[in-house]
Amino acid sequence: MASNQLQKIIKAKIWKFFGGIKPKEMKDTSESRIEDLGLPSIICLPIDRHLGKEGEILVNVGDHVKKGQPLTKASGRLVPVHASTSGTINAISKEVLPHPSGYTGLCITIKPDGNDECVDLEPMKDWELKSSRELLERIHNYGVEGLGGAQFQTDFKIKSAIEDSQTGCNVLIINGAECEPVITCDDRIMQEQASDIALGIKIIKKILNPKVTVVAIEDNKQQAIAAMKSACEGIAEIRVIPTKYPSGAARNLIKIITGIEIPYSVHTSECGIVVNNVGTVLSVKEAVVDGMPVISRVVTVAGSSMKKTGNVRVRLGSSVRFVLSSYNLSPEFHQRIILGGPMMGFTLPTIDVPITKSANCILAPTTAEIPLLKQQQNCIRCGRCARVCPSRLVPYQMYSQSKAKNHAACLKAGITDCTLCGACAYVCPSFIPLTSQFRYEQAVEKHIRDAERRNLVAKQRMQQKEERLEAEAKERQAKKEAALARIKAQKEAEANMTPEELAAARAKALEEAKAKARERKEAILAQKQQQQKAGEDDASALKRLKESQDKAIAIARHQGHIEKPATASEVPENTIEQQVANAQLEEKDILPESLKKNATSRLDEFKVILHESMPAKSSELKLVGLPPDDSRQNPEPKKVIPQVLMSAQEEKKEVNILPDIFKKKTLRSKR
Ligand code: SF4
Ligand code: SF4
Repeated sequence: MASNQLQKIIKAKIWKFFGGIKPKEMKDTSESRIEDLGLPSIICLPIDRHLGKEGEILVNVGDHVKKGQPLTKASGRLVPVHASTSGTINAISKEVLPHPSGYTGLCITIKPDGNDECVDLEPMKDWELKSSRELLERIHNYGVEGLGGAQFQTDFKIKSAIEDSQTGCNVLIINGAECEPVITCDDRIMQEQASDIALGIKIIKKILNPKVTVVAIEDNKQQAIAAMKSACEGIAEIRVIPTKYPSGAARNLIKIITGIEIPYSVHTSECGIVVNNVGTVLSVKEAVVDGMPVISRVVTVAGSSMKKTGNVRVRLGSSVRFVLSSYNLSPEFHQRIILGGPMMGFTLPTIDVPITKSANCILAPTTAEIPLLKQQQNCIRCGRCARVCPSRLVPYQMYSQSKAKNHAACLKAGITDCTLCGACAYVCPSFIPLTSQFRYEQAVEKHIRDAERRNLVAKQRMQQKEERLEAEAKERQAKKEAALARIKAQKEAEANMTPEELAAARAKALEEAKAKARERKEAILAQKQQQQKAGEDDASALKRLKESQDKAIAIARHQGHIEKPATASEVPENTIEQQVANAQLEEKDILPESLKKNATSRLDEFKVILHESMPAKSSELKLVGLPPDDSRQNPEPKKVIPQVLMSAQEEKKEVNILPDIFKKKTLRSKR
């Protein structure tokens, strides 16, 4: 930001923003003190947008929770949600959310116990000595989000201004404009808790170290201006701005205070400007100085249908019905109940929805106050809507494109820049519901963008899978070729050997196989130790070890490294069964105690089967399922081993001694 611009801001120059309207103010509740509404009979806290990637919920149904206890573990930008009173978790289920469509979202329902018991608060008394990181962590962990309506994560907004701007934070604007008719909750906070807000500003200033700090208040809030002027002495400049709707929108307020018009494609933090609502600043103070997470907010209750109107502090998760019944209103079936103000609010499909951090007003108007929708007429291209649009859009064009479902054209026309301020619909002489259509169109655009993102992710995953399969196929082919070459070389070498050399070579191969098995065992044992450290059960690792040993022996036997016996009656000492037995015993000795018993019984069983299945003559030995010897070129042990073990006549018993891993294959090959 240029230094002369900064000087103009310091000298309290005020700029004008484009468009805007001056609707009737209807701020009758400005004189009503904030009341505490007390505890409802049920609390329903939406948690969908508070869950991080892992979506971790920290409580279960039936748990008892205290006021201020975190219910979710949020990660990244998302902040946790806290219990707004003590009680029992009644349900974790999907409930209707405060949205014009009445869609449902995951909520935690608490049945209050009436004691309102609070967790042990941890106030940061020495916050002035804390680092920016510690303060931001506190703001994040205590669930502070924008209470002005957008519900943007406060710590992230502040952090972005530090990280994104090359010059650091230039201007900190505290938004006390509250430009929308009827709503007075921020006005009352400024009147009643100006010193707390001033403390909150000090905390944010400590983190941001801005060059200028301004509290912007519309000139229709004289009491709030007086209170803030006295509380913010030496902390922030109070800037009184003209009453005009929507001066409270962040970009409009920036234009008013700094004269800079930030395009919608650029984040305000990149220009070193941070805008925070007064309610949010109060939450920052409560989180840091009092140690109290965000569990309530002030809501304006207004409308000619109400016998009494005012401002109330409501526990988050209380239902709109609870608030209205506390004001003695039981709305009739067709009565409109609006959440938010008359310009940006929307008619609720049901009043059994919870109050969230963004709910600043509940409006129960009569038809005289806010008339039912008049008969819509055709657009007469008068251009009034374009003249009042603060985002410099052409609403009538966007409307016709949206109606024609030309979403691409609508996006190009700037639908995402629309703040849904309602100024265009307010001035339209043809009573065209422009804002409702734009709200719908933005939802469609979001849906399209989400679908595109999902498609892109799916495409990338498919591509990765294809690459992986291709690499695996290449690896397999290379292994196959290497094995073929090895077998060929081995056969050629064996052809030139004397019987003694052949026996020695086979004994050597057996030793190598055993050494390999030992190496593998050691590796598995090392892995097991690691797993034990991580608390993993060792049973599966030991099973894998045994299977690996069996497999090594079977491979050695199949490859001829263990000699075949002559006949069953002529089995001498130190031949096949003895070698296998020795090998198994050796392997058994290195087994853990828990497996030794099992290994002994397996060995006995193996010996019995070997004797029973031994053919009368060695020439009668045949390999079930294998091609003739000269064509037996399959180098893959995985395929060969079960077939070799099938060579005995007692198939049933043989299957029984097979490791589980081979049983499936053997049974499948039989079928
Ligand atoms: S609702 Fe959107 S299009 Fe209409 S005036 Fe506001 S910003 Fe412009
Ligand atoms: S104000 Fe209404 S009638 Fe006039 S151009 Fe806009 S949409 Fe059409």
